[in-house]
Amino acid sequence: MRTDPDTGERGRRGGLTGEDSRCLWGDDVPHIDENGAVSFSGLWGLGRGLRNCAPLVRAMSLAPWGGGTILRYHSVNDDPGWAGDYVQRSLVVPTEVFDRQVASLVERHRVVGVPELAEAIASGRRVDPRTVAITFDDGYEDNYRCAFPILRKHGATATFYVTTGAISDASILWTVALRHAIRKTEAPGLECGTFGSCSVDLSTPRAKERTIAFITAVVKRCGEGEALDIVSEVLEACGSSRQTFDSRIMMTPDEIREMHEGGMTIGAHSVTHYNLPSLTTDALVREVGESRQALEELLGCEVEHFAYPNGRTNRHFDARVASVVAEAGFRSAVTSISGPVSLRYPVHCLPRLGIVPHDADVRWLAADIQHARLSRPNHSSLREVAASSDSRRAPGGGRDDAGATDEGQEAAS
Ligand SMILES: [Zn+2]
Repeated sequence: MRTDPDTGERGRRGGLTGEDSRCLWGDDVPHIDENGAVSFSGLWGLGRGLRNCAPLVRAMSLAPWGGGTILRYHSVNDDPGWAGDYVQRSLVVPTEVFDRQVASLVERHRVVGVPELAEAIASGRRVDPRTVAITFDDGYEDNYRCAFPILRKHGATATFYVTTGAISDASILWTVALRHAIRKTEAPGLECGTFGSCSVDLSTPRAKERTIAFITAVVKRCGEGEALDIVSEVLEACGSSRQTFDSRIMMTPDEIREMHEGGMTIGAHSVTHYNLPSLTTDALVREVGESRQALEELLGCEVEHFAYPNGRTNRHFDARVASVVAEAGFRSAVTSISGPVSLRYPVHCLPRLGIVPHDADVRWLAADIQHARLSRPNHSSLREVAASSDSRRAPGGGRDDAGATDEGQEAAS
């Protein structure tokens, strides 16, 4: 099991919310043939013997629980000062790697937008297992500068979930502000009133990463006011402020508009990026509704898709949150729980596969997609939303021209 270069966290996939599957696949890369079938040479499943079982793996892809896959990116950037200082290094994909990944996805899969997938699920149609959707969270400026040209070059579409309060750096994303302040401070430690007598170590880069992870986890468990207090206190203790950045971090309205006009889907990702289940219902309704309204005013059209923020939190959505998102008019919402897009999961809690560093090798990417679409996540939040869902799917429905097929109805449960 390997560790994250930034956080020191051990790989976690194998559970349902894991971001890192390296422990599962072992150290060897999988083999992918010209038809896109994947076999494995690591410790996974039956081990090395599976290298010669491509037909078996291909047959597994026909399993009734298979579905499409939504990929989750954050940042595409080559600036060495960006990865680590602003965004966790493991969430930043180099442009050359993203170029290769999109080329591979276009070649081996059907790359469609989230709207097409959501429509298929809402209409009760089985999703073609070859279907893949590309998504980005947060709204970083490199989404426009680096990712958008590559997507256009390959004729691919993607969905960008924007944190509306942070557009044009109006209010820097609190995760970015915290990370930057702690990485840049020369103070050896922090003693904030918020943590009582608890002092945190900032003496080494590794200690700083542990502190970032710790404070982030604390903030995610707080309501809006308390979270804001903690972030402000840490920034002050580090001698930082939300205005102390050398360059722009988030996209501008013009950039978002240009991507929308260029065939990309723009979705909402809340206003402030605080953890939604931790908020009061009033604050939750504001976060969801105002993010939609801001984007609709910016784009002049309906904004129908939402992504729950703080995916690395075990509980980043629940039935109450999903209900508010549906009532606000969003037709779909994506989570950060790894799994397939299929009729098994309500359209307001669609699983996604987080891109991890080893996916720089497109054979790993293909293997991770295969694993995600054959998995059956059983996360408590998914169960909760499924149980409370009033089945927003329309009955029946014919064939559409995107990610759905009518080749057999998948049993919804
Ligand atoms: Zn986010």
